Amino acid sequence: AGLRELLASRIRDVPDYPQPGVVFKDITPLLADPAAFSALTDALVERCTALGASKVAGLEARGFILAAPVAVRAGVGFVPIRKAGKLPGEVFAQSYELEYGSAVMEVQQGAFEPGERVLLVDDVLATGGTAGAALELLRRAGAVPVGLSVLLELGFLGGRERLGGHLDGVELDAL
Ligand code: 5GP
Repeated sequence: AGLRELLASRIRDVPDYPQPGVVFKDITPLLADPAAFSALTDALVERCTALGASKVAGLEARGFILAAPVAVRAGVGFVPIRKAGKLPGEVFAQSYELEYGSAVMEVQQGAFEPGERVLLVDDVLATGGTAGAALELLRRAGAVPVGLSVLLELGFLGGRERLGGHLDGVELDAL
């Protein structure tokens, strides 16, 4: 019993979403349960502190929801990584492959001090394409990603393996 079981019990499988054959992991029941959301936040704060991160970066959109309370409770800043065209001012942009086609994610220039240690947070690690691009983007922005924390790792999709060298110096943990 413990955190893992509590969190797992608050994640719902939705068959055939967003398309036939895919089982989507819906985290909204977890977000709606203050005890579970708080316990998750505490665990991520512990990671943040243990890794000596001075910023938490969240990936649009569900990563924002998980990362922001971690930053507040850890007493560090929050930095958004967003889809293209959403952030004002100068940005670094990184394109990445999706199942069909490609997409671009961005972070603001000047979001990090050079060499600043960053914990990256997202809800689900699937194929690893999103996280790999985000880690690359953090490095291009002058940060040092030291942790990648996800709520769920869909191991059968091989994301951890595909991330390969992107994980150099990065502790990946799934709760
Ligand atoms: P990847 O790039 O690793 O294939 O996909 C990960 C990204 O897609 C994450 O940003 C995550 O939010 C989203 N994602 C993929 N599959 C799921 C899922 O089953 N549930 C949720 N909540 N997000 C998913």
